[in-house]
Amino acid sequence: MSLLCGRLCPGDVGVKGINTTQPCVKDSREIKRALIETTLKGGRAYLSQFWIERAAMSEQSNLSVVAHGPGDLRMERLPIPEPGPNEVQLQMNSVGICGSDVHYWQHGRLGSFLMQKPMVLGHEGSGTVTKVGLEVKHLQVGDRVAIEPAYPLNNDEFCKSGRYNLSPAMFCSATPPHHGQLSQFYVHSANYCFKLPDCVSSEEGAFIEPLSVAIHACRRARVKLGSKILICGAGPIGLLNLLVAKAMGAAQVVICDLSSARLAKAKEVGADFTIKVEKETPQDLAQKVQAALGSMPFTTIECTGAEFCVQAAVYSTQSGGTVLLVGHGPELVSVPLLNAAIREVDIRGMFRYCNTYPMAIAMLASKKVDVKPLITHHFPLSQAIEAFETTKKQLGIKVMLKCD
Ligand code: NAD
Ligand code: ZN
Repeated sequence: MSLLCGRLCPGDVGVKGINTTQPCVKDSREIKRALIETTLKGGRAYLSQFWIERAAMSEQSNLSVVAHGPGDLRMERLPIPEPGPNEVQLQMNSVGICGSDVHYWQHGRLGSFLMQKPMVLGHEGSGTVTKVGLEVKHLQVGDRVAIEPAYPLNNDEFCKSGRYNLSPAMFCSATPPHHGQLSQFYVHSANYCFKLPDCVSSEEGAFIEPLSVAIHACRRARVKLGSKILICGAGPIGLLNLLVAKAMGAAQVVICDLSSARLAKAKEVGADFTIKVEKETPQDLAQKVQAALGSMPFTTIECTGAEFCVQAAVYSTQSGGTVLLVGHGPELVSVPLLNAAIREVDIRGMFRYCNTYPMAIAMLASKKVDVKPLITHHFPLSQAIEAFETTKKQLGIKVMLKCD
């Protein structure tokens, strides 16, 4: 006989007089069937509180945005995931759509990351803790958190030196083979969930992911007090770099793009100068940048991936300065390397970010950075397909989905 304890344990559908070493019954329909069969056999059934709650949850199910292959995006109901010992289960609040999500939807791959099976999209999210794993000490049910989507799986030499983003073995939400966050419920490593203060909204919390890219970029680009800066590209990443560079003390920022609408947004959020790229050569663009700033910028942050901009970045940057490559373009790009070499212009790369979430939360809480003007569209999760179409057409800057 089993008297059920109300805790998770094997054989938790207990039936009076029946051996309870049977395997766990995990599905609400199975639980109901077991109860009916037991009743029909004249037995009495006991169901633990855990399974009653679990049955209710699985009946709610987990609406998710799933990419199946190039051009094939579906809304599907998936099982609600349970947290492991060091994980938390989150009811997702807000998730921003990133260009890479659109890329997986359109092409089924991103560079060398190839989708081998259907994948839930989304890696710019915030959520509310609904369950905590047994080992989790710093979070409680009800806490609102920002989710750092990429974390190292081993404590390797890169982790030890503080550059865990370079670790070869990473978990990353919505990077194959790992599912992303565009679901009602999602499970994540508790160590990479950061509690949000009340003064930081869930949408701002979701924006911490791309904001982290900009913080890491400005650190790598050596932005400092009084810097003059060129930013190529006024998409979400270029605009966030503008906000962070200003917060880090940049004196003047000029930003260039092909899109007048995006340059208007750049002006609205603090760009000192904007340049609409037309048909000029990279050297011509460098001249325009110098004319706008009154001297060559010490730092250029390239956020387009376009070969033209990589070339213009080198020609524009002052001798001894830094070109930071944020944008992802083709593998092979023609770069005026000798020009950079003989003028000691450092060309640096970057990959995602590390150790940025606490700083980003502090910047948002203290209003040093205001990302809200960059959130131009809001959709409920049920309208995710429309939200993805909006992002693909570049109709705004950041499109946010509300999952709760
Ligand atoms: P986005 O596509 O929304 O914005 C890119 C902008 O560049 C657009 O506004 C576009 O009009 C502009 N552009 C394109 N070609 C141009 C040209 N020839 N001249 C001037 N402007 C041009 O992308 P995003 O979300 O802002 O991301 C920017 C880049 O950063 C992408 O390549 C993305 O893959 C990359 N990224 C890199 C990292 C990293 O870790 N290094 C992280 C996130 C994003
Ligand atoms: Zn992204």
